[in-house]
Amino acid sequence: METIHLKTVDPFSQDLLRAAEQKGFDLNWERYENLQPQDGFLRLGLSCPYGCMQGPCRIDPFGRGPKRGLCGLDRDGMVGAFFLRLILQGVLEVFKEKEPSFKQNIQSLSEKAIEKTGGSQVSVSDIHRSATMLVRPAQSPADMVRQSIRLGILACHLMYRENESTQYIPCKAGYGLLSGKQPIIGVAGAPDRESINALYETLCQKETEPARLLSLGEWIELKNQFLPCVCTTGEAELLLSSGKISLLLSGPKTDPGLFEICRRLNIPVVDAGSSFEIDNILRSARDYHSTHSQIEAEPDPSMIGEGQVALSANLLQQAFKSGKDARVAIVGGFDTPQLSLGWIPAELTKALRGMDHLVAAWGDAALWVIKEGLSAPEQPSPVMILDPYRGPLHAVSALAAIGRIDTLSGICFTGLSGCHELAVALGLAAMGNRVCIATPLPLWGSETIRNLLSDNLKDCGGLLMHYDHPAEAEEILDWFAQT
Ligand code: SF4
Repeated sequence: METIHLKTVDPFSQDLLRAAEQKGFDLNWERYENLQPQDGFLRLGLSCPYGCMQGPCRIDPFGRGPKRGLCGLDRDGMVGAFFLRLILQGVLEVFKEKEPSFKQNIQSLSEKAIEKTGGSQVSVSDIHRSATMLVRPAQSPADMVRQSIRLGILACHLMYRENESTQYIPCKAGYGLLSGKQPIIGVAGAPDRESINALYETLCQKETEPARLLSLGEWIELKNQFLPCVCTTGEAELLLSSGKISLLLSGPKTDPGLFEICRRLNIPVVDAGSSFEIDNILRSARDYHSTHSQIEAEPDPSMIGEGQVALSANLLQQAFKSGKDARVAIVGGFDTPQLSLGWIPAELTKALRGMDHLVAAWGDAALWVIKEGLSAPEQPSPVMILDPYRGPLHAVSALAAIGRIDTLSGICFTGLSGCHELAVALGLAAMGNRVCIATPLPLWGSETIRNLLSDNLKDCGGLLMHYDHPAEAEEILDWFAQT
């Protein structure tokens, strides 16, 4: 436990961690530690990703074992294909089986990259072409990299959606939301929004709130606000281990680790992927609450931060215009046990503000910013809170629309929740932006592929910074300062 600060910067989370250890719970951090060292071949991109049944072939990164696969594929071909496979997966995660509507602002930012990577408009046919390229090795590493970049742009088009809202949407986050005597219902994954909204309104209408509904790190938009987040996604399992949550409402994409801890603690779980019975949920939550001991450490009720989410391009444009000539930094992404939770979002944001940057945040990083009070309206330069999933795309589009894209110092992904975020990060770099990813990418098995990637992105006017280790906050700050 002397390394507890390497797991999370939040003091209350650290208390919960100590309690979890005393109870003998293995949480996401322990599983991460037990998995070390993770597969070196995969981490370097030297495990063959082709749809080939003659493998699996792996190439020895140190040159003492195999230097080529069975078919003769070398390390550059393997790493290039591995990267393309990840980006293709990212596109499939956001693909809705139809051509995206190409929004003009994103289209004009991508024109240079499209010209440099073949000239034809990116489209759904790029998905089929990439899948074909991954059947058997036939394409050059350069083709693999160019095709990955095209897919990155396609992912941005698929992810981007306009939002017409004219009002900021309030949000709250922090362990202070736990204070009180009622049972607490935690929501995870991507639940049915209508059902969650109905439950939330039912609870608010009762004279004495029979239970409190809180998000375990997911951004769930209700009618005029986001469901308050008691923690970030990386802390959800830890919070469940405390016994303070009396029922889990789990939508699709809920982290499997949450089910396991609920099973161990007998916390009732209800599927929130479609409509559910409100009375049954309340009864189950009350039953659990009345029969189980509660958390020893009570959080201070004041541990709640607030923010205002700008979901529309118009609101973002106004906010960026009022930022006068300040430089802009965008920081976001999802929690990962590779880095102490909250460390990079909090440290980086404070330092960038000290460097006169207007900072905008999305995802778990935004929740950390809110928890730290950095987005509070009374702050001298409150951090802007962006759409939790499309935030960087909206921000880049808004800056371009007002002719201020040159004031963007960079976009930092503090952690990646899926391949679609890697694809979007690549697409944003291809659109001419400086992009940094704080967690390592499996590109370190081939210097050729790394050079091809950086040369191609340079031709597009962009840059993708990545490291062979989980990055330190200071390294990322230095990278921002290089503009
Ligand atoms: S494509 Fe080549 S390197 Fe890959 S698994 Fe098949 S034989 Fe091995």
